[in-house]
Amino acid sequence: MIITIDGPSGTGKSTVAKGVARRLNFTFFDTGAMYRAMAWFLLERKVSPDEHNRVCSLLSEFDFKIKTESQGGRRYFVNGTEVTDVIRTQQISTLASQVAVISEVRKAMVKIQRDFGRSSDAVFEGRDMGTVVFPDADLKIFLTAKPEVRAERRYRELLGKFPDLAESFSLEQIHKDIVERDHNDSTRAISPLKQAQDAILIDTSNLSADQVIEKIVELQRKRAKHRKYPRMKFAYWIVLSAARWFFKLFFRLKIYGTEHFRPGAGIIAANHASFYDPEVVSISCPEEVHFLAKESLFKIPLFGRFIRTLNAHPVSRDASDAATFRLIIQLLQHGKKVILFPEGRRSPDGEIHELEKGLPFLVQKAKCKIFPVYVAGTFEAWPINRSLPKIWGRISCVFGTPIEWESFEGLDKKEAMAKINERTERSLRALKSWFEAGAKGTPP
Ligand code: C5P
Repeated sequence: MIITIDGPSGTGKSTVAKGVARRLNFTFFDTGAMYRAMAWFLLERKVSPDEHNRVCSLLSEFDFKIKTESQGGRRYFVNGTEVTDVIRTQQISTLASQVAVISEVRKAMVKIQRDFGRSSDAVFEGRDMGTVVFPDADLKIFLTAKPEVRAERRYRELLGKFPDLAESFSLEQIHKDIVERDHNDSTRAISPLKQAQDAILIDTSNLSADQVIEKIVELQRKRAKHRKYPRMKFAYWIVLSAARWFFKLFFRLKIYGTEHFRPGAGIIAANHASFYDPEVVSISCPEEVHFLAKESLFKIPLFGRFIRTLNAHPVSRDASDAATFRLIIQLLQHGKKVILFPEGRRSPDGEIHELEKGLPFLVQKAKCKIFPVYVAGTFEAWPINRSLPKIWGRISCVFGTPIEWESFEGLDKKEAMAKINERTERSLRALKSWFEAGAKGTPP
């Protein structure tokens, strides 16, 4: 999922975009930093933005890297030199806005941004994110604020960052620069700063950063809730609705994190502690999903009909034979979602155990997303050592941030297999911890 946040400088874009990304567990991408870094690079090489040919030839040497720290902070590097702080000076701000009008520079930056957007859920902050770079973004925000408010914010930011240089800038000068930059950014021929038609406008003049973040997170939740999924088959919908009521009534079923759910192919990878798990996970999904069940279960009179209607597919012995893999890959290639239990068997103690090799194999073959899901309470309701289930209790289903297969692209096969399992297991454990800590906010 991609959220774009555009708007002029001083509207709080960076703080807000960072906050939204943190709340939703998305990656944050500050595209202004790229233009600033390019401006710094030109200054270093003593090339003026007017020297078109020299600027273009420098583009091939421009190596921009972002390092994310464990706390979520970001450090920027140009050809190995850290530029995180130096690109925030007033001189670079002005230069960046001049560099940003060069079409070759924009083309190179847009390519990097799109490549990045393809590989993860991200919040992109800039000027042309919703209009040019991601016209199909899931949620587009345009921030504004009165120029006086923006100048005041920028002044305070600079004072905080460069207290020794306080003499070299004034509120008046900053206000003038902001108005000038707004003019440059919104009147330039390519990718001018403007609100996309379908962007939501938020005036931040009288709002705190936290209030704006809250608004955007809420908008994203609503979007995710009303996201369009293919229409369910009537029989599937009836059985699903009945089963949902049953689990809600007898097991107080609670579903968390459906905002992480996306249309399209994917493997729903859940922990497995009970025969209740496939039903609980499938009825918690906002879209039709498929799962595998032992052939013998289809012979149980009513239950067999029930799971068949819920898109269960019979498997002969276990889920590791070639025919089963072929069936799953076919479903995925047709854009379906398939529930898998990568631990391979039901947990003997309700805990999450090591994952088998089936999941990474399938992800590599089908090149699809993984939707990690943590199911709580099914072990207590129907553990492995009980032949008959309880019909009351408390069950929850928690959807986590999808894992994109692209993040394993380029790794050799063996390494990718290990990494896919490692990431999925980590994600399942993180969802369990989130749930056990009180299930507050958005699941990781
Ligand atoms: O957002 P920030 O102030 O860091 O951006 C610096 C400059 O980079 C802006 O004034 C604008 O000219 C340019 N920019 C752009 N397109 C973007 C992001 C920034 O033109 N997507």
